[in-house]
Amino acid sequence: MSRKPIGDIAAGRLAPDQLARNFDDIAPPLDRQAALLAAQRCYYCYDAPCVQACPTGIDIPSFIRRIATDNLRGAATDILSANILGGTCARVCPTEVLCEGDCVRNADSAKPVEIGALQRYATDWVFRDDARLFERAPDSGRRVAVVGAGPAGLACAHALARAGHSVTVYDAHDKPGGLNEYGIAAYKVPGFAQREIDWLLGIGGIRVECGKALGGALGLAQLRRDFDAVFLGVGLAGVNALELEGESLPGVRNAVDFIAELRQAPSFAALPVGRRVVVIGGGNTAIDAAVQSRKLGAESVTLVYRRGREAMGATRVEQEFAQSEGVHMVHWAQPRRLVSTDGVLTGVEVEYTQLDEQGRLLGTGDRELLAADSVLKAIGQVLVPAPLAGEGNQVLELARGRIAVNAQFQTSLDAVWAGGDCVGGKLDLTVQAVEDGKRAAHSIDHVLRQRGVRAA
Ligand SMILES: Cc1cc2nc3c(=O)[nH]c(=O)nc-3n(C[C@H](O)[C@H](O)[C@H](O)COP(=O)(O)OP(=O)(O)OC[C@H]3O[C@@H](n4cnc5c(N)ncnc54)[C@H](O)[C@@H]3O)c2cc1C
Ligand code: SF4
Repeated sequence: MSRKPIGDIAAGRLAPDQLARNFDDIAPPLDRQAALLAAQRCYYCYDAPCVQACPTGIDIPSFIRRIATDNLRGAATDILSANILGGTCARVCPTEVLCEGDCVRNADSAKPVEIGALQRYATDWVFRDDARLFERAPDSGRRVAVVGAGPAGLACAHALARAGHSVTVYDAHDKPGGLNEYGIAAYKVPGFAQREIDWLLGIGGIRVECGKALGGALGLAQLRRDFDAVFLGVGLAGVNALELEGESLPGVRNAVDFIAELRQAPSFAALPVGRRVVVIGGGNTAIDAAVQSRKLGAESVTLVYRRGREAMGATRVEQEFAQSEGVHMVHWAQPRRLVSTDGVLTGVEVEYTQLDEQGRLLGTGDRELLAADSVLKAIGQVLVPAPLAGEGNQVLELARGRIAVNAQFQTSLDAVWAGGDCVGGKLDLTVQAVEDGKRAAHSIDHVLRQRGVRAA
């Protein structure tokens, strides 16, 4: 789609070969020798802290031991039986605050075992060779609808199909994958999401219907009538607004839309990017929007966050990476006004902030104008509850803006489960969504088995 130029927002700021280098795999895979050396650093701890720190509880010492003996099939089975999206997680997990953050080798050598890289080494061949590691149980005759083909929905669908249930996955987008396909930074997962999904669907028993959104023609009440169980893995489809004057100006965009367009672009050279970009926010989305703007050739990228560095949602490693890519960070500042000339965005006025004695965030009154052709808003995603409406007095309860679930991921509606970002409460990370989907599937399977196998 060609877009009318706005301010100084233009495509092709860098040569195609430079763009290709900028978006190349950020963490190239280990070869066998490097993997064996990395594996040898593991102490195979008893009650290993790295396993406790992994939301999916992968048996890390076990898979590393198998790598050390060249048993890649065993290593991959260890990983993927705990985390069916272990290929993606090897690339996108913030390991510095999960498994590697808790590795005991931090204490004696200030360097953890490279668990993420080893996980990738152990699993890459599975997708390349389309290796079958799991078999589907005999058909149970039970049917489950999964809404949302993101990590939570896919993990749930795979575990249910493996248990013998027939699963139909509905997704509003044109492709499955959720934020793996439309959100995660392009340089973390180049060309990987759909390969992993193809492999995952190879278990059989899963039908994916894309371009079908819950709400309207596809109602929750209907799904509950047509299926034995429903799993909701709809993520957070809405975004918070700045609620500032000038927010509807051309050049002011949601960072998630910018990133989704980038992830789907047939060519990075055709993607328009501002010359001077200001990103508002302090989480993953803000960092990814800022770094990818730089990689597309923006001359200056400034990330504005209203609190200090330690309060940012992005990890310290991600912050340092953004700075190494030339992203300038302004802490303790919040946007107050989007400034334009003749309807064209020219800047963002920010006000510096501080905490008062009660820890409340206050403006200092000290303001500054940051020049900008493009402003990317990344101040949080929210659940869109309208499509989830129940029927009559059957209400899907929410808690703190997300779907309320019990420890088995059951919602307030009978035979409806939910997991992933749409339930929240823990980490909004791929690995947590996978764990939620997996645990919900086990609960659904348990309930369906109590009802007995139905003749197909
Ligand atoms: C920009 C960005 C970068 C990120 N980077 C990382 C990272 O590096 N590492 C990491 O671990 N995590 C990262 N995350 C977080 C991670 O992507 C999410 O936690 C994870 O994808 C949540 O999975 P999910 O299945 O719950 O939801 P999603 O991935 O959001 O999937 C939800 C799916 O539901 C579908 N859907 C929504 N509404 C409807 C409807 N009404 N009807 C039908 N379908 C619907 C959507 O189309 C989507 O496919 C990032 C998030 C963002 C936004
Ligand atoms: S904590 Fe580190 S050394 Fe111990 S088992 Fe895990 S990876 Fe190996």
